[in-house]
Amino acid sequence: MKALQYRRFGAGPEVVEIDRPAPGPGEVLVKITASGICHSDEHVMSLPAEHFPYAMPQTLGHEPAGTVAEVGAGVTRIELGTPVVVYGPWGCGWCAMCADGTENLCLTGMTAPGLGSPGAMAEYMIVDDVRHLVPIGDFDPVSAAPLTDAALTSYQAIKSVMNRFVAGSTTVVIGAGGLGHMAIQLLRALTGTRVIALDLGEARLAFAREVGAHAAVESNREAGSTVREMTGGRGADVVLDFVGTDITGRLAVACGGVGSSVVLIGAGGGGVTIGLTSAPLNMTVSTSFWGRRQELIELVAMARRGQISVRTTTFPLDEGPRAYELLRRGEIRGRGVIVPA
Ligand code: NAD
Ligand code: ZN
Ligand code: ZN
Repeated sequence: MKALQYRRFGAGPEVVEIDRPAPGPGEVLVKITASGICHSDEHVMSLPAEHFPYAMPQTLGHEPAGTVAEVGAGVTRIELGTPVVVYGPWGCGWCAMCADGTENLCLTGMTAPGLGSPGAMAEYMIVDDVRHLVPIGDFDPVSAAPLTDAALTSYQAIKSVMNRFVAGSTTVVIGAGGLGHMAIQLLRALTGTRVIALDLGEARLAFAREVGAHAAVESNREAGSTVREMTGGRGADVVLDFVGTDITGRLAVACGGVGSSVVLIGAGGGGVTIGLTSAPLNMTVSTSFWGRRQELIELVAMARRGQISVRTTTFPLDEGPRAYELLRRGEIRGRGVIVPA
């Protein structure tokens, strides 16, 4: 079968021919119908060899949708042909975090397809356990695949500060890309908050407005004071940083008001620094990593009702290397999705 693999440090991913895997006991073979492209793949591929955390080569892809093609010994709870998305953070299943579905924070360390295990940028993929499959019925797999990360990660971040979206509140979304454009829609569908998006260039700002931002502002040194002006001097109640560099960290502090919450989601290698006198009083900063299994089930339900919709650009598997090149250049609107067939 064909697969898109990261094989050489410092080089882009390559399309290769590898053996189709067979499911072992308890495992499920999924025929991939769609596989979302996340910016985290780009971060991982830019790590120096000595810091690369996985075995090489690494088949990419941690936002899978597919159909059940074959099951291993002992798997009885799912029928062949069932259309599914795959929950990506595979925890141990029995620690205190996994016990309530928070496998993304597994205390014994989790693995994920495309990030340690062979991923979904391939014709077939092995899923370690049937509990990681969420049926999607007749819902479009291309629209469903990015729910597993772009939407799920945004959803957990928003839920973590849900009590902050009071009447009259303002929320700043820094970075309206794959994750950010889902965050904007989730904020609009779940809360009454006013959403101000910050991104680079008019095309991306227009996209943020198109998916529901009330306002979109160029992300530069003045953006903090612009947000402050737009909120009558108070600053935002919530800031969601989907970039995660020191530059956006400073911007997040500049946008937030007294008692505000900043949630850091982006993995840009930087962070948010606050001090008692260098940040608004009682500002809270937290991080948020991926999401819970139950939350993915909730998002599939929301998407099937049409309350949120992923804006996608599709690429055949052979064009995977080009798709990652476009991602690196910031030229993908919403989410890029690889369709192997
Ligand atoms: P993306 O490339 O689709 O979107 C990034 C967006 O940020 C783009 O619209 C880009 O123009 C914008 N941007 C870049 N620099 C900016 C700046 N200085 N100010 C404002 N906007 C800026 O990426 P994505 O797939 O949405 O991922 C976003 C980040 O989230 C990445 O760092 C990724 O690794 C990380 N991520 C984290 C988790 C998690 O669990 N915390 C999960 C998935 C992705
Ligand atoms: Zn991701
Ligand atoms: Zn666990």
